[in-house]
Amino acid sequence: MHIYDSAAKTKRKFIEQNKGIVYLYVCGPTVYDDAHLGHAKSALTFDLLSRVLKAHNLHVVYARNITDIDDKIIQKAKQIGISIQELTDKFTTKYHKDMAHLGITPPDIEPKATQSVDAMTDMIGRLLDSGHAYKVRNGDIYFDTSSDKKYLSISHKIQDDSDKQNRIISSDEKKHNADFALWKHANKDEVGFDSIFGRGRPGWHLECSAMIEKHLVKDDAQKYAVDIHGGGADLLFPHHENEAAQTRCSTSHEIAAYWMHNGFVNINNQKMSKSLGNSFFIKDALKLYNGEVLRFYLLSTHYRSNFNFTEDDLLASKKRLDRIYRLKQRLFGLQENTMQTDFQIQLLKALSDDLNISLSMALIDEMISNVNDVMDSDKKNKQIKKEAVSNLTYIKTILGFGFQDPFEYFQAGAPKKIKEQILALITQREQAKKQKDYQNADKIREQIIALGANIMDTPKGTLWEYHG
Ligand SMILES: [Zn+2]
Repeated sequence: MHIYDSAAKTKRKFIEQNKGIVYLYVCGPTVYDDAHLGHAKSALTFDLLSRVLKAHNLHVVYARNITDIDDKIIQKAKQIGISIQELTDKFTTKYHKDMAHLGITPPDIEPKATQSVDAMTDMIGRLLDSGHAYKVRNGDIYFDTSSDKKYLSISHKIQDDSDKQNRIISSDEKKHNADFALWKHANKDEVGFDSIFGRGRPGWHLECSAMIEKHLVKDDAQKYAVDIHGGGADLLFPHHENEAAQTRCSTSHEIAAYWMHNGFVNINNQKMSKSLGNSFFIKDALKLYNGEVLRFYLLSTHYRSNFNFTEDDLLASKKRLDRIYRLKQRLFGLQENTMQTDFQIQLLKALSDDLNISLSMALIDEMISNVNDVMDSDKKNKQIKKEAVSNLTYIKTILGFGFQDPFEYFQAGAPKKIKEQILALITQREQAKKQKDYQNADKIREQIIALGANIMDTPKGTLWEYHG
């Protein structure tokens, strides 16, 4: 397996630190609003990574945090007049629901910032003791970036020259522009936690470093805290640079052996149709599209590229996913098997090359065409069917495509009322046919078509699909 390491700025062969086990940490959401497409892209990227690592028979320990204390959270809770916990519980639940709709496997560990304050104050104590942090007059504690020789080695940012001119202006200010808060003091009437440093709140960057130490580091002497650290490209600087500095200066290891960053999601406003508007929210996209269609579309562009979301592209992408489900329908009722095929070897090889999704999708397209061709010309070919069933299972496991019932998949998008009407009409039509009233049966069929559905008479009864 090779992955692009953002800190090394090159593709590197992946070797796990402890044989057979991969520790993966990804920065999760700040839960004060609904999850947007950027959250989806990040969660999908690392869901795919985790699946590919597992396909290499590696045991993956995946942690993704929940930031449930933050200025934005405090403001929003105040604004709508509910408690911080009510607000963060509500949006954590909504986040989990959205991710589940996208077929994303939950992480193994999901630490919350409010439950890790002890680990954060421990880390601040160590940084103060070793001279990497300092307290200013008002009680805030800052990380001294000038004390870390490797600062900026992750993001390769060039230190701003203006920094030099900004050194100590007064004793309650930070020493250097680049220094960042580890602890912000809080007054009695403000939200805060009691600690040995007085009442206050931890800085945001600190939470990931502290949680990684608390939940993922098994041996302090190891070279890296985790194998892979991931997140959106916007987090590379300053968030990840600061995380790396905190860990480096308060422990005997670096925070991560490999850094992975996913690209941004943009919405092309000009081309967005009226239906989705400018909404970045997953919940709005889910009102219009099946979660798996969104999953397939968002994963169809390489994770490091910036993603331009348009409904035209989404609909084109859905047609490719439809082909997987058409084949699933064609093979319906056949027994699952775990036969190994050349296709599976090729697919794993493509995904193991820094998650090469375009090659992977091309391989899937080709496999489906081949199977359909053979099945068209040689209906009795049991071998090809067996191989295809196994390939579909493999695709489902490694990419999370094709996890729904194929018949229900094609019914997705039908509003509840329309669905009820279609089902009622199908029953009426079956009765009409029983009574040999074919004229009425045809009329009912027209009514069903007018509702946006197609029907097929099969030995299993009447099947329907929704086209809108
Ligand atoms: Zn983080």
